[in-house]
Amino acid sequence: MNFFRWAVKELGFSKSSRYQKQYINETNIRTGIYMSFMVVVLELWMILRYIHQRPGRTPLEYFDGETNYLILFSAGLILLTFAWRYGAGKKNFTAGKIISAAVIALDAVMIARYVILHGAEMTTGQLFFGMKYHLLLIALAFSYLIYELIIGKKEFRTDIYGQMLNIIFAVICLGFGIETSLYDISRERQILCFITMVSFVACMLIWKPYVSLILLGATFLYFYYLWLPHLEAIDAAGGKVKDGDSINFFILWIVLAMISISIYHQRRLESEKDEGLINANKTLNRVIQEDDLTGIHNMFYFNQEAVEVLNDPSVDFSRKIFLFLNIENFKTYNDQFGYQAGNEYLQKLAEVIRDTFTGDPVARQADDHFAVLTDVSGVEEKTERVRDVVRSNDSEIYLELKVGGFRPPSRDVDPRMAVDSARYACSRIKNKYNLNYKEYDEEVDSRFHKNQYIVNHVDSAVKNGHIKVFYQPVVWSDTREMCGLEALARWDDPKYGFLSPGVFIPVLEEYRQIHKLDACIFEQVCRDMREAMDKGKKVVPVSLNFSRLDFELMDAVSVLEGYVEKYRIPKDYLHVEVTESALNENTGLLEKSMDRFHADGYSIWLDDFGSGYSSLNVLKDFSFDVLKIDMKFLTNFEKNGKSRIILDTIISLADGIGMKSLTEGVETEEAAEFLRKEGCGRLQGYLFGKPMPLEELSEKIADGTYTVSSKLE
Ligand code: C2E
Ligand code: CA
Ligand code: CA
Repeated sequence: MNFFRWAVKELGFSKSSRYQKQYINETNIRTGIYMSFMVVVLELWMILRYIHQRPGRTPLEYFDGETNYLILFSAGLILLTFAWRYGAGKKNFTAGKIISAAVIALDAVMIARYVILHGAEMTTGQLFFGMKYHLLLIALAFSYLIYELIIGKKEFRTDIYGQMLNIIFAVICLGFGIETSLYDISRERQILCFITMVSFVACMLIWKPYVSLILLGATFLYFYYLWLPHLEAIDAAGGKVKDGDSINFFILWIVLAMISISIYHQRRLESEKDEGLINANKTLNRVIQEDDLTGIHNMFYFNQEAVEVLNDPSVDFSRKIFLFLNIENFKTYNDQFGYQAGNEYLQKLAEVIRDTFTGDPVARQADDHFAVLTDVSGVEEKTERVRDVVRSNDSEIYLELKVGGFRPPSRDVDPRMAVDSARYACSRIKNKYNLNYKEYDEEVDSRFHKNQYIVNHVDSAVKNGHIKVFYQPVVWSDTREMCGLEALARWDDPKYGFLSPGVFIPVLEEYRQIHKLDACIFEQVCRDMREAMDKGKKVVPVSLNFSRLDFELMDAVSVLEGYVEKYRIPKDYLHVEVTESALNENTGLLEKSMDRFHADGYSIWLDDFGSGYSSLNVLKDFSFDVLKIDMKFLTNFEKNGKSRIILDTIISLADGIGMKSLTEGVETEEAAEFLRKEGCGRLQGYLFGKPMPLEELSEKIADGTYTVSSKLE
């Protein structure tokens, strides 16, 4: 079995890869150039010598004698032309057509002369056998002409064609060697021409071992068969050559076969090494260029490609646009179907994006984010095509494609910055229903710079007292006396003026700086309260807003404790407000902090209940003292009968599980009255007062606008 396998491999029967075939074929065609060049020069010299030695003939008469030189010369010329045009990678090679046509014409003359000269005395079979090399030459020239006319243009199967031409040429060479040497033998000369030609064919060209065994075997046996009568004739005349010459002859055969086989294996080994190297290189390139999840390019490659595109002088950079693609709500998809399904979805989508923007740089940036550099024209139609695929996912989940665009202002724009700007433009339409495309424009730009400003200046704003606390009253629904305050942050900026939390809070959260602001608010609230107490004023509890990130970015409990101790604040005068969405995402960390707050004696209020993706589980898993009902239930309160039912239900629910309730955003007397009747204890809203600075609040307490309640619970 092993021997069999070894033999199959040694004899060249085992399958070679495409690359190996190509490698050997190309080596052969290259060698073909040297070989045929030598033949052409040598034979030209022989032809000229032949003519020179036979002066005074008419041109046609020269065809009647030795035409072998001419045949070999023509065959060499054809092969040389083919190999040269192949190496030069020409598509349309007129010289090739002319040469092959000329060779066909020349050969036709030779055949005609042969038939005229020998036609009468020979049978048809003898005639054909006599013209075998003429016919091979015609076949060679025709094949090449067909290649020139049809096949070469399509670059179709050039390798097989090259092999075929090589084989015909090799057979002509061998035939020439046999014929010439037989002629030499008849003149008692050596068989050097035969030896030259077989060495030439066996060693210059690379054959599969079994092919070279067959080719050389047939040649050697055929020649020996023709040579034997001469050897015997010499021995019969008293010579002693047959034995020795036969042995030498067959040893030569074996040696040549071995050389040929060893050349083949050497070349094959080379090609294997080469292929290994090329494959390793390919893998390396893939690693550097590809995104491993989706197989499309990564940002490293994208940036290089984008630079190339923009720097191409034939490209009008002002007609190009960078796109940032984001799938909204993809997280829900992942949560519902798991990461595996999410990954498969991204792979499919990556393909769609790549195929939609064919020829353009396309890459996956991270998560469900993709980057594209494409033409401005057609951008809407193309993104719409991708959007259709995003929307038509076969789940029930709502997925939407959000796209941000950025037009490069110059050729040398940094692609990373361009994609970042497109991403920012895209973030402007996050969660905005019906807004799916946003280009980076002046408005986005100024917002972008404002955001950068906020992030870069939060520290100095805290230090220089630009962060202020505004207080909004909370009242008892029955007496309307003030029972609490909510501390709300304001940023009074020297450059931008008054900034509202709706602007700076999301930015500080995105850049994970929110804890700096919150700690600053906590301290101000404690300081304000200490001052009021020291002045002997009656104080009410203040609720503090905690961002979900406060628990990650600092030890929120200890930070608050620090101020409480420093300013000696009773713990039941501070409430902790956390929003519902914080509880959905965060787990262990937040739970521990909640427990610590409770244990320390703070009450915890659940903010914005009913906004966003509510889950009643939050109520089951955590214990809160007060439920703050989101103000969205009060929008259109007067017209919308459903709001009343919902509010009523939430209040009863809170009551049922032992929680107090507070409704935010109360703006009308009607709403306040309704909530009081339904049993909502606390109210907060513009009806009772907007958030205001401490001085204003003090004035309003002093002038009797607010009565401070003595009741805490
Ligand atoms: P929030 O905690 O739900 O605060 C209530 C918001 O509703 C405040 O907006 C308040 O001015 C507004 N509001 C109160 N009554 C009414 C009303 O009757 N009608 C209407 N239309 N609005 C009313 P503000 O002060 O702009 O704060 C917005 C959000 O910013 C807050 O929502 C809170 O989530 C966040 N925030 C404010 N200050 C801080 C802070 O110090 N730290 C943290 N982490 N977040 C804060
Ligand atoms: Ca709040
Ligand atoms: Ca709220």
